[in-house]
Amino acid sequence: MKTIGLLGGMSWESTLSYYRLINEEVKARLGGLHSARICLYSVDFDPLEKLQQADDWEGIGRLLSAAARRVEAGGADFLLICTNTMHRVAPQLERQLAIPILHIADATAERLVADGIRRVGLLGTRFTMEQDFYRGRLADRHGLEVLVPEAAEREVVHRIIYGELCQGKISADSRRLYLDIIAGLAARGAGAVILGCTEIALLVRQEHTPVPLYDTTAIHARQAVDRALER
Ligand code: GLU
Repeated sequence: MKTIGLLGGMSWESTLSYYRLINEEVKARLGGLHSARICLYSVDFDPLEKLQQADDWEGIGRLLSAAARRVEAGGADFLLICTNTMHRVAPQLERQLAIPILHIADATAERLVADGIRRVGLLGTRFTMEQDFYRGRLADRHGLEVLVPEAAEREVVHRIIYGELCQGKISADSRRLYLDIIAGLAARGAGAVILGCTEIALLVRQEHTPVPLYDTTAIHARQAVDRALER
């Protein structure tokens, strides 16, 4: 079994999901007392989030590269960045590492394409919904047509992520807001909606809506196990 590298803490609420999902998947496949080999570095998110607000992606890249190198030095065979948004600096990290990064948008897009979905809704932080590092990658590399909520709804989605989900607050009112936005994307022709932020599945799950949901955390975690167990 290979060692899975996790760059976590963004937020730790969703890093917990990664840790649980990866171990559950290894146990399901190998049985008994098997568990995943994991090397995790969990950052302090607060200063990084302040750098996001300041639009200092260079600074974020420096901090996360240093953290990623520690994961590599700890013996990881490959790395998962446990947040969609921070994939904005994935190219900076790749330049500093000898081990590969499993990109969360590629993992998700491959599943969508395999399921025959071409037009997809995307929920995530403002950065993820609006910037090219994520939307553009889905479109250019995978041929997906990406729909995002309109501006006021994007603000709601973004605010709930940082103000509630990253702080472990789960509210029924916020779930209703998300479900309305998901229904709106489906009405515009989305065949599925990407939960493109690693905390959203803490709020909204498939049982809450008939619209097919693609949870990036679960897809990413599962791909990590595929890679760890492949011969
Ligand atoms: N975990 C979130 C994501 O998947 C947001 C936190 C962050 O800004 O990294 O995008």
